[in-house]
Amino acid sequence: MDYNILIQKAIEARKNSYSPYSNFKVGAAVLGEDDNIYLGCNVENASYGATNCAERTAIFNAIANGNRKIKAIALIGDTKTYTYPCGICRQVIVEFSDENTDIIIVKNENEYLVKKVEEILPGAFTKKDLDVQ
Ligand SMILES: [Zn+2]
Repeated sequence: MDYNILIQKAIEARKNSYSPYSNFKVGAAVLGEDDNIYLGCNVENASYGATNCAERTAIFNAIANGNRKIKAIALIGDTKTYTYPCGICRQVIVEFSDENTDIIIVKNENEYLVKKVEEILPGAFTKKDLDVQ
């Protein structure tokens, strides 16, 4: 699949980052099951723990618009290299993904890696673990 549009949207979303404390801007774009694109950026807070990452902002945006699965998520940090999702975001990505979901780790508009959920969070704790008795 061609992810150029999703990558461009993640780059655009990064411009809206509210990151006065870390000065580390992150942008994300989710392709929802409805084939619409939902944007997210990191939103920091003076109470650091209240900060929300770009990936979760984008996923929550997709969920709030009626999606329950994501087809893909692209994210880009503020470095010259690849920025991977943090541990909390990996857990949230798993919640709304399946084995076909692509996680696109973007270095720049021409260089990116495509990962699957099993690669970024092997052995993830999921809803099915709660069903085991
Ligand atoms: Zn995160």
